[in-house]
Amino acid sequence: MLTGKTAIVTGSTSGIGLASAHALAAKGCNLVINSFSETSEDHSTARKIAERHGVEAVYIKADMSKPADCRALVEKTIAHFDGVDILVNNAGIQHVAPVDEFPTERWDAIIAINLSSAFHTIAASVPTMREQGWGRIVNIASAHGLRASPNKSAYVAAKHGVVGLTKTVALELAGKGVTCNAICPGFVLTPLVETQISDRARELGYDRERTIHDVILAKQPSKQFATVEEIGASVAYLCSDDAAQITGTTLSIDGGWTAQ
Ligand code: NAD
Repeated sequence: MLTGKTAIVTGSTSGIGLASAHALAAKGCNLVINSFSETSEDHSTARKIAERHGVEAVYIKADMSKPADCRALVEKTIAHFDGVDILVNNAGIQHVAPVDEFPTERWDAIIAINLSSAFHTIAASVPTMREQGWGRIVNIASAHGLRASPNKSAYVAAKHGVVGLTKTVALELAGKGVTCNAICPGFVLTPLVETQISDRARELGYDRERTIHDVILAKQPSKQFATVEEIGASVAYLCSDDAAQITGTTLSIDGGWTAQ
């Protein structure tokens, strides 16, 4: 159990982040839920987690494309909960285009949200984790942190960067009670992937089922999506005391993609 620990999950109003927040709250963690908006729905997401799991959960707005927001998210968490024990860097976006047509603004946004935000939140969390002699950092990378696909230059570059950052931070904190690992999911059915399914179906003139089987899951041998609950369960495992000696590594949850 992780009773009384404090966890930040970036980008946790939807998809993998929301499921990871539930998985950690189910183990007794207090939660900071985050996105870049500030709506009543955002706050009610945190309230529902608190009610369902009997923990404290607050919503803190922070735009992960902005370094100052990333650091402020950690500082506000430490001020509110008197510390931070678990950091899950999950916020991420996607854009698909050939490299020579890739909009510079989309490249910059993907590198900022999918990679640099993790640098800033880690840098702001590490002093507290080191001092208390316990911490868990889980970065949601991707199979695209280990393999490439065409037309995803920014995403693949960012996710490879996340894997490199993970290894480096793990070495810096080895033996200090703080671990840093990356989870590398294959395709998981979330809003981020729903957009890719509808875009590709429109481009190719395929129906949804054919697009999923022939295009989206072409590289995923199981031909099945991983679920957000499966990713959340692995986040909770990496945060447990049983995983104390797992650090600087990647955990693939990809239906066999990277075995090829
Ligand atoms: P999603 O679109 O369902 O959720 C993304 C979350 O990030 C949302 O809560 C969104 O509000 C938040 N977010 C986006 N921009 C933000 C910003 N600027 N500041 C703060 N929050 C922001 O996506 P998902 O599929 O759950 O993806 C979550 C993570 O998992 C991403 O890092 C993604 O790259 C990674 N991933 C997803 C898949 C997949 O197949 N879905 C596979 C591998 C890795």
